Amino acid sequence: MRITIFGTGYVGLVTGACFAEVGNDVICVDVDAGKIDRLNAGEIPIYEPGLEAMVVRNHASGRLRFTTDAAEAVAHGEFQFIAVGTPPDEDGSADLRHVLAVADSIATSMQDYKIIVDKSTVPVGTADRVRETVRRRLADEGRAVDFSVVSNPEFLKEGAAVEDFMKPERVIVGCDDARARDALHDLYAPFNRNHDRLISMDVRSAELTKYAANAMLATKISFMNELANIADRVGADIERVRVGMGSDPRIGYHFIYPGAGYGGSCFPKDVQALARTANDVGYIPQLLEAVEEVNARQKHYVFKRIREHYADGLQGRCFALWGLAFKPNTDDMREAASRRLMESLWEAGAEVRAFDPKAMEETRRIYPGQPGLTLCDRPEATLEGADALVIMTEWNVFRSPDFDLIRDRLAAPVIFDGRNLFDPHALQQLGFHYYPIGRPVVA
Ligand code: NAD
Repeated sequence: MRITIFGTGYVGLVTGACFAEVGNDVICVDVDAGKIDRLNAGEIPIYEPGLEAMVVRNHASGRLRFTTDAAEAVAHGEFQFIAVGTPPDEDGSADLRHVLAVADSIATSMQDYKIIVDKSTVPVGTADRVRETVRRRLADEGRAVDFSVVSNPEFLKEGAAVEDFMKPERVIVGCDDARARDALHDLYAPFNRNHDRLISMDVRSAELTKYAANAMLATKISFMNELANIADRVGADIERVRVGMGSDPRIGYHFIYPGAGYGGSCFPKDVQALARTANDVGYIPQLLEAVEEVNARQKHYVFKRIREHYADGLQGRCFALWGLAFKPNTDDMREAASRRLMESLWEAGAEVRAFDPKAMEETRRIYPGQPGLTLCDRPEATLEGADALVIMTEWNVFRSPDFDLIRDRLAAPVIFDGRNLFDPHALQQLGFHYYPIGRPVVA
């Protein structure tokens, strides 16, 4: 099948590569000419496990092409996927500028029937706006071309995006016409061989399903962080509570880890956008508002602990920081808890020496020439003479470090752990002053 994908970010590039991998003929189009040049040169602008080899392989075979030419791209595909960003607007609602610009580009160049598939995360009612945008352009130009608009929200997880796309837990297709629904069914058939994972519904329900899923996951995290804060104050250990409560199959162990607050490009903006949608229709989304507030507060947790530990202030202190990405296995730092922490430390006059397995280039891009920031090429190199070690991302490589070396290199044996990686009592025996989250602190 011939497929056009607008947007070559985390979602667009993975979607394009995976569709090409199963034999389709794919063109990806982006307005960022630099990105397209890099992709055409075989350079992958983002880190995602397994993606580079898949892109290079399919590009070499000619099944995956990259262009900035929207007209050429529109002419190519029977399917026109919209996978561009939907960043938060000033009021928290999703900014649909890019989505509607793509809809207009498709309308401008299309000459025959197209299935326009919305993969970006967009508020309920966006498919109607896309349809309206296309109709208006066609009417302005006095042309009549048939088209369908489908909602097909994406559920891939950064860090496991290729795996998630190739073996999806579900494929949601929101569609009000049978022709497009059948075509989507055929398109996803290669990913459905084990059993049919396609869940078909009306467009509005599909649009809401994506927000519902992300809001639920964000709620689980904020709930655990709320409990961790209570555990702190009543002298309980949140990790034991987690194990105890997760044993109930109605609760389960997934996604109930306390930590330094959720980040990334999706949860923060999607919870906000859903709350905004609710407000727009006259409903006060109390739970969603609380989820956001708890998360905002949690992002200060580690800094608060650090500030409390150093009674004489943070001016001139230096912190070794392990983990910059918002979660492991990605280089994405959008809304990462590490950023809030570093910015607070700099403001308080402290320095940061940081390491992340994949997000160093992204850190340089976000904080070019930042005073008070040194990036080190190994975790151990951050430690020399630092006042404490701070852990903000639970990369595997940080889980079983050489504690003797950490103690020897640090100016004082202090660890602030925003991801509860270690056993507090074991660390106490090793002579550390260890600050986890929601667990009794042992000095
Ligand atoms: P991204 O910011 O990584 O990439 C978006 C790309 O779209 C950029 O390369 C940008 O240059 C391009 N673009 C913007 N306007 C364009 C236009 N008019 N024509 C062509 N290209 C254009 O975004 P992303 O993380 O891939 O997310 C895309 C959408 O998917 C968002 O709505 C997001 O909420 C949703 N989503 C993201 C994830 C995720 O884990 N990142 C998961 C599921 C859904």
